[in-house]
Amino acid sequence: MSTFWIGTGWKMNKTVAETRRYIADLKARLPDDAGADYALFIIPPFTALAAAREAIGMAPVLLGAQNMHWADAGAYTGEISAVMLKEFDIDLVELGHSERREHFGETDATINLKVKAALRHGFRPLLCVGDSAEERAAGASGAAVVRQVKLAFAGLTKSEISRCLVAYEPIWAIGEGGVPASPEEARPVHVALHVALKELGAPSVPVLYGGSVNLDNAAALAGEQAIDGLFVGRAAWSADGFAALISRVMAARKAATSTPAKAMPAIG
Ligand code: PEP
Repeated sequence: MSTFWIGTGWKMNKTVAETRRYIADLKARLPDDAGADYALFIIPPFTALAAAREAIGMAPVLLGAQNMHWADAGAYTGEISAVMLKEFDIDLVELGHSERREHFGETDATINLKVKAALRHGFRPLLCVGDSAEERAAGASGAAVVRQVKLAFAGLTKSEISRCLVAYEPIWAIGEGGVPASPEEARPVHVALHVALKELGAPSVPVLYGGSVNLDNAAALAGEQAIDGLFVGRAAWSADGFAALISRVMAARKAATSTPAKAMPAIG
């Protein structure tokens, strides 16, 4: 079975104390075999990274940051650099979330600089891309996210791109009021992303889906061949919720490997 990614980004939620409690609860609830075939990750706010690293200990849970600046240091008040993040021994850095693009003026060009800086410092960038409701209505979802990926990865070598993760997060699907993409709706966009990544010489880059994933839709989304992982917000903000999602996905994938394979869409 290939590695399946399941992670959660906490946005601007959870104090240090809440982080410690969450991780202790999560560790107590993780299925014994969660570390095999699964890559689990949590992305707390900056202020909780030290506590999260300590609380994770030897548990099979990767740690990520929600953003970073592209410069190592300098006159960028309020920003956090990769050099600073290194002290927390993080594994991943989330870049390009649509909330950062919308509220904090992130552009494809600055995201490209951040991806390069993250790779330079040995982090695995988790690049978020997403289509707007208008792009979806115009049938332009695939084109919109492929464009974002190409701009974010411009100037990178094939091996650098191969160290990244991509998360397809439809803007219309995430957060309060978001409507989750059905597996049928997510499929062609994931296929388009896989085709683009293959063209860029990095066919093995995992493409995760994020946007109102919950206990009811997680197994079906995880069952799509072109979906290599789930990036979860609200449904995983409690340790119980995250552990239940992990168990649900693991059970569904176990059941799928013991039944005949379904017809899969070609990915180029
Ligand atoms: C997100 O905003 O990245 C996200 C996946 O959120 P939610 O699962 O709450 O829609």
